[in-house]
Amino acid sequence: MTQKIMAIGSHADDIEAHLGGTLAKYHAAGYEVVYVMSTNNMSGGVSELLEDGTLKTTYETTVPMMARRKGECAVAARALGTVPIHLDHPQRHYWGGKKEGSVELRYGCSLPAGVPENAPSILTAYEDKASVKRLADLILEKNPECVFTHGVSQYNIEHFATSLLVNAAYWQAVEAGFRGALLHWREGMTRLGEFNCRWETFIDYTPYLDGKMELLGMHKCQMPNAHLPDFGHRQLAERWGVACGCGAAEVFTWVRHADYRDDDGLIYHPLTLELIRNSR
Ligand SMILES: [Zn+2]
Repeated sequence: MTQKIMAIGSHADDIEAHLGGTLAKYHAAGYEVVYVMSTNNMSGGVSELLEDGTLKTTYETTVPMMARRKGECAVAARALGTVPIHLDHPQRHYWGGKKEGSVELRYGCSLPAGVPENAPSILTAYEDKASVKRLADLILEKNPECVFTHGVSQYNIEHFATSLLVNAAYWQAVEAGFRGALLHWREGMTRLGEFNCRWETFIDYTPYLDGKMELLGMHKCQMPNAHLPDFGHRQLAERWGVACGCGAAEVFTWVRHADYRDDDGLIYHPLTLELIRNSR
């Protein structure tokens, strides 16, 4: 049986930023990666690293931005031996051009180029039965050992909304017989205070720290500075490493443990085993 990890992130770079080390490590160990994007990636800036070390950010309208960010996603996913699956829920805003500036996607407003009618935005996707079922069916079809996604207290509301969608779909899949685990990754900040800054388990990916930074650098328009020694995600990785007694770690909270059984009881695959061994 090929073991699989499913990663579900909101935007191009989220998966690499919070799970990239784990994916690099377990991909090298023979795991298959299922890489899922919840939004259509139509928003965000295009950053460029200038010679003086500062970043210059410009903006693009929906169609070129989606093409750019999905293209970068495909490059990073390829490095993990896979192709991205896009759920394409519209983001909550986009760049409408110089005249319009940043536009919020409100109820009843006209849709920008590249956004189909009746596609629930990421903010409300978790309430939409068809969207939840589509993701539940994907979880059942791929049948990963573990599903990882954002936590519910994350600072970015699209991360939070993705967490709600994944949680709803996950429990629907469990109802239909899915036995794999669900974990939330921890980001740098939370909306809901210190309690939500806790973590329960981690993956030690010390030998893959540079590999994770390379994955992040593939998202050129977001992290053109990923190769620098003082890059924020490198510092965060090392800080979590200190907290976990290793060189670099990604930290998680459990939503539910895997529940694979045979006649002798529970079966622990290597990823699950490390997560259990590292649980506090
Ligand atoms: Zn994001």
